[in-house]
Amino acid sequence: MQTVSVLGSTGSIGTSALDVISRFPDRFRVSALSANSNVDLLSRQVKRFRPKAVCVVDAAAARRFRKISLPKIKLYEGEEGLCGMAADLKVDTLLVGIVGSSALMPILKAMANIKRLALANKEALVMAGDIIMKDARRKAVKILPVDSEHNAVFQCVESGRSAPKKIYLTGSGGPFLATPKKSFKYISPEKAVKHPRWKMGKKISVDSATMMNKGLEVIEAHHLFGLDVGNIEVLIHPETVVHSMVEFVDGSILAHMGTCDMRTPIQYALTYPSRVSSSVKGVTFSKSEALHFYSPDFKKFPCLRIAYEAARRGETYPCVLNAANEVAVGQFLKGRIKFTDIAKVIEKVLARHRGIKGAGLRDVLGVDAWARLKTKELLGVVSD
Ligand code: MG
Repeated sequence: MQTVSVLGSTGSIGTSALDVISRFPDRFRVSALSANSNVDLLSRQVKRFRPKAVCVVDAAAARRFRKISLPKIKLYEGEEGLCGMAADLKVDTLLVGIVGSSALMPILKAMANIKRLALANKEALVMAGDIIMKDARRKAVKILPVDSEHNAVFQCVESGRSAPKKIYLTGSGGPFLATPKKSFKYISPEKAVKHPRWKMGKKISVDSATMMNKGLEVIEAHHLFGLDVGNIEVLIHPETVVHSMVEFVDGSILAHMGTCDMRTPIQYALTYPSRVSSSVKGVTFSKSEALHFYSPDFKKFPCLRIAYEAARRGETYPCVLNAANEVAVGQFLKGRIKFTDIAKVIEKVLARHRGIKGAGLRDVLGVDAWARLKTKELLGVVSD
């Protein structure tokens, strides 16, 4: 029996993860759940999975949750509560389905208490990849990527039984692949969150639309697989059948294919190293479209170019990239800035940053806070 905690259990990744877990009652036991504010769904999950502990991050939602009578459960509240729960609870696997930089501290707090980290969150790695990877090595925590491309790469690397020479990260190109660049400034938040292939949360959907998502994934892959950014190539693959590919020193290339269902990477991360049957359908090749691969348009999608530049510079530049992007995407979703302003402001903030070599946690948190303030200042944000 494997004990699992799911952070972000009411989100897109969390609900898929609990769906996978519910199919294997003799394999997994849920130890803890966390949600931001959806306490109705959380309370249903608590009744179903009977965890020992729960954390509600949003303060008003936590007050509502306290009134729902659920027996014998330890309740944590707020961001601090999430760190506290991560620090208190010993589990086999921590599945992190929270979006954004707020996943960083709970991950670091949990590291001494877990054997495996099933990681769907990319922002924490972009911010503090060196710190997370070093800590995981020191505490012998196995990191199992849940992000579909990285899970694909992980499966290829495992099968190839050799270090990769090159990684091809595929991406659908997002909803605006065919949209002319001159109409980008009119893109509304409603349009940007509608992804053609994957059903995802709002922030990652906007990131997919700007292609910042692929940029963050390049940095994520660099940390997870120890490759130079120059050996990680993004390929646009609109059919999203190939979830990523790995090239080895002998020229062999292994690809991971499948349908677009997050339950596949989640299940593999949970059952690794075994493969068990699943309800996810395979690809019907005889009926499938032709598969296309081509290079992204860096002029049309400046966020991808900016992310590559930040990745090449390393130091604390990726941390700034991530923080500025989170703030800009938040403002875009509130309808306060244009779609095209996202890339512009991120580039401006990066230009004002002086990178820190070998940054520790305190440096990273300081840079993150600085970049958020700077982005708000440049965007003229008065309040949230
Ligand atoms: Mg992905």
